[in-house]
Amino acid sequence: MPWHDHGVPNPRLAAAFRYGFFPLVFFGAITVGWLLMQHGVSPMIATGAVVFPCALLIGLSERVQPRFASWAQSHGDWPADLTHTFLSTLLPPEIIRAVTIGALTGAAVWLAERTGRSWWPGDGSMLVQLPLAMVVSEFGSYWAHRLMHEKEWLWRVHAVHHSAPRLYWLNAGRFHPLDTAIQYVGQTVPLIVLGASGEVIALFSLWTAVHGMFQHANLDIRLGPLNWIFSMAELHRWHHSLVLEEANTNYGANICFWDIVFRTRYLPDREPPEQIGIADLPRFPAGYFAHLASPFRWRALVEEAGATPMAEAVGADSTAR
Ligand SMILES: [Zn+2]
Ligand SMILES: [Zn+2]
Repeated sequence: MPWHDHGVPNPRLAAAFRYGFFPLVFFGAITVGWLLMQHGVSPMIATGAVVFPCALLIGLSERVQPRFASWAQSHGDWPADLTHTFLSTLLPPEIIRAVTIGALTGAAVWLAERTGRSWWPGDGSMLVQLPLAMVVSEFGSYWAHRLMHEKEWLWRVHAVHHSAPRLYWLNAGRFHPLDTAIQYVGQTVPLIVLGASGEVIALFSLWTAVHGMFQHANLDIRLGPLNWIFSMAELHRWHHSLVLEEANTNYGANICFWDIVFRTRYLPDREPPEQIGIADLPRFPAGYFAHLASPFRWRALVEEAGATPMAEAVGADSTAR
């Protein structure tokens, strides 16, 4: 039961939650993760030990103070989203890392030797290294994400994420595995090649995981001026709009720095859209395996929806979204 509803309002508690929940949980998660690693806990264990309780906390909080009541109801989407989280979002980066880590660390050594200097301030404070890792990695992920919206052949792998009928914490993992792989290459590979440590990359992953859940959470929380730093739910809800001009904004995964630089940050002073999805594909398939197949049967999907293929309508290489 929402605290601000049902005739027993508790405005102070609701306001404390609205403004305090994100900073408390987010910065608390980063701090606990860092402390665990400082005490010798492996980065993978420390990340899991922090992310899973956060998932539980955010998921349960959606039952208490949802942003939209309609998004608190199951849309039959959670089995696919849960499968995506483990098989499409967590697994591909692990596989890519296992296969490429030798070559990438070799490239880091080569780069440092070739240029005669270290390209990562590894001796600096984590308060410097972590924000720097965000700015560097978000440049790659900003352009990977933006190109997925602007190039029809890339949009096919990103459409799964935008086919979500509602926003809630679990569709932070609703990505096609090819989408995850592209994002990993754009986001994390540059950090490894520049020489960021395993601890920095683990804290970066922890940040991304917790922020991603908050970014999609159906929570009535407000960030105020922090909306100029984080690419959080208040911005991201517009990114899932049915209106293309609104959806082709706010590409940041964690921070809105590059959206500000490239003038794609969008946060109008009005209610965000409750109806979300893909206007051209309202009957996007709902099952996990149908999602996996969707980029490869795109023409059939478009024909089933009765929409004009964007590539035919405006040219194969033009704006898809
Ligand atoms: Zn997108
Ligand atoms: Zn999203």
